[in-house]
Amino acid sequence: MQPRPNHGLRPVFCTIVPPHLLDKLSQADDPVLAAPARRTLEADGARRHQRQVTALAFAPHPPRTADAVPTKPRRTLYDCRHGTDLPGHKVRAEGDEPTQDASVNRAYAGLGATFDLLLSEYGRSSIDGKGLPLIGSVHYDEKYNNAFFDGEQMVFGDGDGEIFLDFTLAIDVIAHELTHGLTQYTANLAYQGQSGALNESVSDVFGSLVKQYSLGHSAEQADWLIGADILAPRVSGDALRSMKAPGTAYDDDVLGKDPQPASMDDYVETRDDNGGVHINSGIPNRAFYLLATALGGNAWERAGQIWFDVLTGGELTQRAGFAAFARLTVAAARSRFGEGDEAEAVLKAWSEVGVATR
Ligand SMILES: [Zn+2]
Repeated sequence: MQPRPNHGLRPVFCTIVPPHLLDKLSQADDPVLAAPARRTLEADGARRHQRQVTALAFAPHPPRTADAVPTKPRRTLYDCRHGTDLPGHKVRAEGDEPTQDASVNRAYAGLGATFDLLLSEYGRSSIDGKGLPLIGSVHYDEKYNNAFFDGEQMVFGDGDGEIFLDFTLAIDVIAHELTHGLTQYTANLAYQGQSGALNESVSDVFGSLVKQYSLGHSAEQADWLIGADILAPRVSGDALRSMKAPGTAYDDDVLGKDPQPASMDDYVETRDDNGGVHINSGIPNRAFYLLATALGGNAWERAGQIWFDVLTGGELTQRAGFAAFARLTVAAARSRFGEGDEAEAVLKAWSEVGVATR
């Protein structure tokens, strides 16, 4: 099975903080909270539009020969110095000593940890499988309440310091964004409706797996939260999302309540957020959590391998829904592990969240 090339397809502009959350924040009575959120929303909206206009100019990087596939990351970090020109000023290249700037060093380490997991566990060199250099920019804009992958590079804001902290503080956020690149180079799931929610969920899955891998946490030890380290102390909540218990990540007087459903019974039909891509992703997220904890041990080994096989296997279509994805995970479990506990646990996980597998 060969992964499909994605010639001519539009890269996704994906932010870690969804528009519905920033929208809520921008309506806060306190201008200290509302102003940065409004600014971030406007900047994201403009950039989303810009991506659409320049979409046709996007072309995949030329393939390299197989014997030249690198086994070491090639990272370059830039500092935007609170401006919005990308990539900004070059501050750290691969192999350079750490800088005085902790944001630069954290982004460098997070990109490295993601590269390591992909290569050592799944045999993939970088997000394109050909050692693609990884580019990150920190200190983007002022009080920018987001981090994003724009199809070519990662960008991190410093947060407003009131609700959101420096986005490089969370390794799962870094890995989440980079996984959008992995998806772009493989299944290229369309960023709308269920396929969009799968795109988001896959980023949460590998975001969490990179965090677990770097901490040496088993499925039982993991917190199964996304973005726990970027919420300021004043927020009533644990994280942006919970894979273990979608809908319980936060319940805050400014941010409102986490809107994620935990099963198909509570699936949210909406036109916002590209049809709820950051909302309904709670359903496949919980299926992965249920599988990983049922199997036990390190989640990146068997559960992560099954998800990776589906994402990169070439059979997942760009507009796949939850049921199609679920069926492929059952097939991937059988083809890699036979008719054993793994396939049985995959079936049970999807059934618990109400997604049919046959
Ligand atoms: Zn995302």
